[in-house]
This record gives sequence, structure tokens and C-alpha cells, in this order.
Amino acid sequence: MKEIVKSVVEVSKYIFKRGLVPGKAGNVSARINGEDGFIIAITPTLVSLQDLNEDDIVLVKDNGEILSKGKPSSEVNMHLAIYREKPEINGIVHAHSPYATGFAFSNKKLKRLEGFGAIKSEYIAEVPYEKPGSIELAQKAAQALKEEDLVILKNHGVIATGETIEEASGLIEFAEGIAKTQFVTHMLNSI
Ligand SMILES: [Zn+2]
Repeated sequence: MKEIVKSVVEVSKYIFKRGLVPGKAGNVSARINGEDGFIIAITPTLVSLQDLNEDDIVLVKDNGEILSKGKPSSEVNMHLAIYREKPEINGIVHAHSPYATGFAFSNKKLKRLEGFGAIKSEYIAEVPYEKPGSIELAQKAAQALKEEDLVILKNHGVIATGETIEEASGLIEFAEGIAKTQFVTHMLNSI
């Protein structure tokens, strides 16, 4: 448990340093499987990910019951819904990485590039806009991520799942790189 909490803090600080979660945006969680269901270790609400300590991480049971002090991220329902749909994953990272989020707010779709798992369609899947923190967003993101490891949340950001949180954060970083390249390509092509 202690190791998992430590890795949530480490990944949070890493993605902050990489500029993927500006301000107080973004949230990270890891799953710990138990005999009767699972619990997640998730970042708290309204704290910049760069400022986290291990005792800030909130433990939440699979039914939403809070097991430790502190208030979990406002997207805790989205994390729980995704874990319920994807028993094979143990880490989730949600970011507002600037370039990928730029695509989320634009009418341009983000192309998949090589290295993004099995290529099922030309573009990275998008989840239609729902209010951040809402049950509707939780349900739609969980449905979309059944088939994908990373999706764009329209007019909001990106979210990725992985066997570990390190894997999920790697996907977020990779998607940001793809978005940067495609942004530059669009700009150069428009000159
Ligand atoms: Zn968000």
C-alpha cells in the first residue's frame, strides 16, 4: 500500500514537471485489489500535483466510500467507473496537457501515430463533452476506455489507463508529443 501511494505522488510530480497538468488540473490514481473488491489511492481535490505529499493521497473504496482523511479529486467517480469497466488496469492518469487539450477544444482530430497500440481507427477516440466531475462524464469515459488506452475528453483534456500508473502517464506524455508534432505540422502546412 505504501509503495502504491508513493508511486501516485511520484507520477503526479513528474507529470507536473513535464507541464502536463498546469495549475491544479489533473488527477492520478492507482488500484489496490483486495479480497472483497478494490480500493484506489487518488490525488486530492484542489491541490496542485507538484505540492503533494504521501499523506495527501486519499483512499477510496470501490463503492465510493472514503477511507482516509482528505477529499478525493472531483473526478473520483470517473476513476472508479473506469476501474469497474477495466479489471485488467491498475493506473489512471487524467491531464490537461496543453497541446492535446488544444485538440480537445478544436475541431481538429488527433491522429494516432505508430506506437499507440493496435491501430483501430485513424484518430484517437473522443468522448463528447460532459461537465467535469459529473456521473455522465464518468460513464462516457469508462465506456470509451473499454476499447482504448487513451481518449480525448472534448473541451476538457485527456485520460489514459495502464497496467501501472507509470504506463498511463507514459501514454499521456506520448499523446502530448503527438499533439505537438501535429500542431507544428498544421502550422507549417498553413504557411
Ligand atoms: Zn480535468
